[in-house]
Amino acid sequence: MPSSAPPVFRFAPSPNGALHLGHAYSALVNQNICAKMNGTCLLRLEDIDQTRCTPELVQQMLDDLTWLGIGWQGKPRRQSEHFADYRQALQVLRSDGLIYPAFLSRSDIRRAVAAKTGPDEAWPCDPDGSPLYPGDERTWSQDKQDAVLSKNQKHSWRLDMTAALQRLPDKLYWQEFEEGDPAHSRNVIARPAVWGDVVLARSDTPTSYHLAVTIDDALQKVTHVVRGSDLYQATSVHRLLQVLLGLPTPQYHHHDLVIGSDGRKLSKSNGDVSLRALRHNGVVPGDIAKHFTFAA
Ligand code: GLU
Repeated sequence: MPSSAPPVFRFAPSPNGALHLGHAYSALVNQNICAKMNGTCLLRLEDIDQTRCTPELVQQMLDDLTWLGIGWQGKPRRQSEHFADYRQALQVLRSDGLIYPAFLSRSDIRRAVAAKTGPDEAWPCDPDGSPLYPGDERTWSQDKQDAVLSKNQKHSWRLDMTAALQRLPDKLYWQEFEEGDPAHSRNVIARPAVWGDVVLARSDTPTSYHLAVTIDDALQKVTHVVRGSDLYQATSVHRLLQVLLGLPTPQYHHHDLVIGSDGRKLSKSNGDVSLRALRHNGVVPGDIAKHFTFAA
């Protein structure tokens, strides 16, 4: 990045549930670092899950952010309006022989893993805890893939990790910067192999989080990604996709996670206290930081 270019940040929540304190913290860290660096902050709605992301939740999210004092430049980018961008990238990866259609359902995967492991053996899992893909479709010819695809069977598009790793020039790094000192960063070695044949799209959704976030950070010319440390390992996949698709690489800062009173990471699905509930209970934005708890 030329030194004259103003830094570009983005906050990228998924409006598939109410925002909670963890989102507030992430948005505020983004905003603080962005202000320190005289940057621009963008908002992106990661709404690829069209069943869970409702217009009401989107509106509530925008209201919560406005209440919190978070500002952004321009119109938020909604991923659901850009499926063509992700399809195009998938097409590039398919022409390069780097993805394949995978037909095993979740329960098929469980059964295949059980069949392939002995009683005391553990099947490797990715950093999110999902078993590495046990199917063998990556070895199928293109004709066989096309023949099965023509039957309209449900499938995922998976990255052929072994083939992808062979395209890498050398060791893969990303730059991780500190919140207090964004001008300085350290190199982190990316380890995409631990993810195995990661899912990049499904027959009913033309992208996964990994593909969409990588493409959007590039299309929105994001130079600094600030997000929770739960996505630290995922950065390895994003770095790999950047190389495979010829996209630029932002710098990254993965911040601590806000935890609940029981020590768990906050989550929408666990029904953790929403910003809306705090707001309705009289908490004012200036006091929100008093409600952040971090692991010791
Ligand atoms: N949409 C993701 C989330 O809400 C964040 C993605 C990112 O910042 O890369 O957890």
